[in-house]
Amino acid sequence: MKSTDIWFIVLKHLADNLLIRFGDEFTGRISENEFLVWCVEKDYRQLERMANRLLESYSSKISVSGFEFDIGLKAVFVRSSSSFANFEDFSYVGLYALTEIKSTGKRGLVTVDESLIKRSQESLALNRDIMKALKSGEIVAHYQPIVHASTGQVVGFEALARWRHPTLGMVSPGLFVPLAEQRRLIVELGEVILEQACEFISDIQQKSDSSSQNRMSIHVNLSTPHFHHKSLVETLVNLIEKYQLLPGQLVLELTESILLGAEDEIVERMEAIKSLGVQLALDDFGTGYSSFSSLCNFPLDIIKLDKSYIDNLDVNDKAKTLVRNIIHMSQELGMTTVAEGVETASQLRKLNVWNVDEIQGYYFFKPMDKHQALEKFAK
Ligand code: C2E
Ligand code: CA
Ligand code: CA
Repeated sequence: MKSTDIWFIVLKHLADNLLIRFGDEFTGRISENEFLVWCVEKDYRQLERMANRLLESYSSKISVSGFEFDIGLKAVFVRSSSSFANFEDFSYVGLYALTEIKSTGKRGLVTVDESLIKRSQESLALNRDIMKALKSGEIVAHYQPIVHASTGQVVGFEALARWRHPTLGMVSPGLFVPLAEQRRLIVELGEVILEQACEFISDIQQKSDSSSQNRMSIHVNLSTPHFHHKSLVETLVNLIEKYQLLPGQLVLELTESILLGAEDEIVERMEAIKSLGVQLALDDFGTGYSSFSSLCNFPLDIIKLDKSYIDNLDVNDKAKTLVRNIIHMSQELGMTTVAEGVETASQLRKLNVWNVDEIQGYYFFKPMDKHQALEKFAK
């Protein structure tokens, strides 16, 4: 039997069961594997009991048409005492709550409370607005300086996306980057930031002393779909030409998740990008599973040592040994090491003793908008 047939059997079983239990209510399938039961004028307690009984019936394996299934059913209960503008908003709250409980692994019936409703309504607003925001220029890059570790001189910047939302204010990338990924808008987001970042570094270079030997670099975060996107190389060629970027000036930051997959193809793609004079950095080094082998297997120029290691420098001797050796190894491999999230003088002192190359962190600078950065650094 094909897996699609088995899938169908399970869905049909669930649908039948819902109809038996909630038959006189409004019941329907609202996504690939999600159902909604909408009850009008029912006693909440009675409904909770019914939902709990349903969950209990799936708490262990069930047998359908001679097959055994572990469905792992999850359910949320949304009380309509809160005001919802329309049915879409109401069902969105349920779906949002389900996504949250899936990620936290919570079991049993979860009753949606006011704070979850508020979070889901914000998420809904962002979801509706993100496409428009990308087109209308509400999503902008901010820039965090990266400094030379021993001299403190600014050697480059990392472009960090920010959303200036008209009603919610400044929205963090931690919220909207995953949203852009879900909505398949991550490549558009990447392109918007990439273009702004190239323009910024070209502006800053032009306004700086032209005799200066210092070529500042710009780091841009690259998502997995963007790395694999067919037009990435062409986009890079155009931007390098348009903004007259010099070799080494543009750095793309990759996370280890990009490096999972067919190694030959990934190396080939990396080489194609590098042949344009673009440098490649491994972001969040040390948080993935195979960081050390990544250094040998992929043509990387820069390692960005994750903040979690730096945070531990003052409290954990093992972290000290690890960081010292990573810096040493990276030097031996001919790579530049950037320490991320440096916040204290004591962290900086240690990193300097171990000859780290560059520092990015609040100890020196926080991210700032384009105007502040130009005013401060275009000299
Ligand atoms: P990341 O690439 O690791 O960026 C560094 C994050 O650490 C930034 O957070 C930065 O503001 C923060 N940071 C830097 N120094 C310090 C410090 O000393 N202390 C503390 N507490 N934090 C520090 P931000 O801007 O919130 O970005 C979060 C993440 O969102 C980024 O992590 C990156 O993964 C993602 N992101 C941001 N912009 C983009 C983008 O344009 N495209 C993609 N795909 N992802 C982006
Ligand atoms: Ca980064
Ligand atoms: Ca990072």
